[in-house]
Amino acid sequence: MNLKYSQFNLVDEIKSGVYSIYNTKSRFHLILNLTQYSSHAALLQHSELIPQLPKSVVDKLFDKGFIVSVEVNELSDLKRKSFAARVNEDHGLVLTILPTLECNFRCVYCFEDVLQHKNDRVMTAETQDNLVKFVTEKLSQGIKGALYVKWFGGEPLLALDTMLSVSEKLKVVAKQFGNQYISAMLSNGYLLDRLTKQHIDDLSVFAIQVCLDGPEEIHNKRRPHRGGGNSFQTIIENLKNLTNIVERIYIRINTDKTNAASIAFLLRFLKEQGLLERCKYDIGYIDTETGRYTLGQTCSALLKEADIRSIYKSISQGLHALNLENIERAEYPKLLKFACDAQIKEAFIVDPTGNVFRCLNDATIPSRAMFNLNSGHEINSKRGERFLTLDPYNIEECCACAYLPICHGGCPAKLIDLGEGQGNCWPNHYVFRDKLIKYAKRKVG
Ligand code: SF4
Ligand code: SF4
Repeated sequence: MNLKYSQFNLVDEIKSGVYSIYNTKSRFHLILNLTQYSSHAALLQHSELIPQLPKSVVDKLFDKGFIVSVEVNELSDLKRKSFAARVNEDHGLVLTILPTLECNFRCVYCFEDVLQHKNDRVMTAETQDNLVKFVTEKLSQGIKGALYVKWFGGEPLLALDTMLSVSEKLKVVAKQFGNQYISAMLSNGYLLDRLTKQHIDDLSVFAIQVCLDGPEEIHNKRRPHRGGGNSFQTIIENLKNLTNIVERIYIRINTDKTNAASIAFLLRFLKEQGLLERCKYDIGYIDTETGRYTLGQTCSALLKEADIRSIYKSISQGLHALNLENIERAEYPKLLKFACDAQIKEAFIVDPTGNVFRCLNDATIPSRAMFNLNSGHEINSKRGERFLTLDPYNIEECCACAYLPICHGGCPAKLIDLGEGQGNCWPNHYVFRDKLIKYAKRKVG
């Protein structure tokens, strides 16, 4: 069989003759010692040199997707799998429910202008009933996999009663059709003390994500409580109590150029409080100037490469200065076949008025809803379709990019609204290689 190197390899020399090789499609990361070869610099780059490697190395590289048959068209394979995954009902039914748009915080970069939604901030009984009917109809069509509910807001815990009553009904429906029921929650963390172990069980919550934007003073300025006061201390106390009753807690740290230098101090504090062992943290890059396209687990900012590099550098330097570099764990991206949940056919975002969307950032713009659960009327079904049909695998720049299997063309909404090359790239890719090299160097010591 004639072989070639995968177009999705990232190869870096980490010390003379020792290479880090990572494949963005298979997600394998290997360290190879090629010091015995005089021409080692070219060996992992040029397919015609593959025969010079020992068979055991070639077999290993083939097995892990670094080497493929020349017959394989990796791009069309990626595209085929992505389009198939978008409509694969094994994902189950994924619902992001906004039980309220009310919020007790006034974050400086919030993309939901909570003050604009004066009359329709809390989910009505009519919407709750129609949501349950919608789920019943969907599951009755034979969707396999779990009914997966993500609670979002506003601050969802301001509508805890709604969450509990909707959950109770959805669990009955899931049971009726033999689907597992699981849920997760994004919360600002202030009201987590309202959640008892019984609530966690009733909601079947396995994961909660909370945002912290820096040490106390900085967090309190960026994510102030509506009534002022110290939101940071309350969140920290709540997290400490919560780690005993929730399976997974994620701390999302939203960074931009103004708070990047403080992140190492936040991480040191979390470590001292014992929270780093019990929670996972993740750094998000946000653009505080536009406030759009910034929220949600995979949503990215409209930041430029230079900004992201400078934020990452600032964080790394901070960790180095505090002798905390090992806090940065080797975290490889998840294996996803599309850019975000907005591209899953059976994934829906439901706002308190019953409007149903594909993208989280659309969720406060009624004209972007696909349809309304209460009226049954279509609103903008074409926009919903665009997320499913979007094809980044024919964009020249993406086709030549080694990050395509992770990024899949980046935020679909940006591609739809702004067009190609307008900041849709997966922001982490600007610093991912630096991270890989760091992890690899740590491995070889
Ligand atoms: S389309 Fe973009 S903005 Fe919308 S949910 Fe996905 S990543 Fe976020
Ligand atoms: S959007 Fe950017 S990072 Fe993503 S595949 Fe295309 S060029 Fe690469």
